[in-house]
Amino acid sequence: MAPHTRLDHRNPLVFDTHELGRRPGALQRLTRTIDAPKDLGIEGVIGVPEGASVELELRLESVMEGVLVTGTARAQAEGECVRCLEPLQLDVEADFQEMFSYPDADDRGRVKAEPADDAEDDEDRLFLEDGLFGLEPVLRDAVVLALPMQPVCQEDCPGLCSQCGVRLADDPDHHHDAVDIRWAALQGLAGTTSDEKDEMSGAEPGVDEKQEK
Ligand SMILES: [Zn+2]
Ligand SMILES: [Zn+2]
Repeated sequence: MAPHTRLDHRNPLVFDTHELGRRPGALQRLTRTIDAPKDLGIEGVIGVPEGASVELELRLESVMEGVLVTGTARAQAEGECVRCLEPLQLDVEADFQEMFSYPDADDRGRVKAEPADDAEDDEDRLFLEDGLFGLEPVLRDAVVLALPMQPVCQEDCPGLCSQCGVRLADDPDHHHDAVDIRWAALQGLAGTTSDEKDEMSGAEPGVDEKQEK
């Protein structure tokens, strides 16, 4: 039997299906704007901040075994670009569809003698509780699926300079002379005795030192 949490009808993510009157084929459409619950997103990557508005559009359809809920959630997520670490905002639109079954009906809608006793079948099913259903877990799964695991500020974000850390999108012509600091030091040394320069450039700096260890 699925664990029952008591649903509070005052919770904006709890919906009432009584209007459908348990008549298969009956349809109800509704929209609701709610405050985002906490942890609506991918932790540490991107998500809808707690309390930000989430627009919900729902279609409730009465079917034999319960109520089929189809909907869309729209909100603005916040995170940071994985390449350049700039904060970013992203409009997220998440679609979902979920079946909420009558606890006393089997999957053909027949009323069972003993409610919800076939535990294997019921584990993944969601149930109406006194005609109410809680959308929060469905909304959370849908939003997580709709969000990018690797958000970027722009599709071709060039990221950060590996040498100095500057954001390359702000400075497209940015470059460093391809001279290693160790070479610069060597060249400085070689500057006084320019004849030896070619000889020295053949050897990796620090190689002898490493071999001794
Ligand atoms: Zn970026
Ligand atoms: Zn740089």
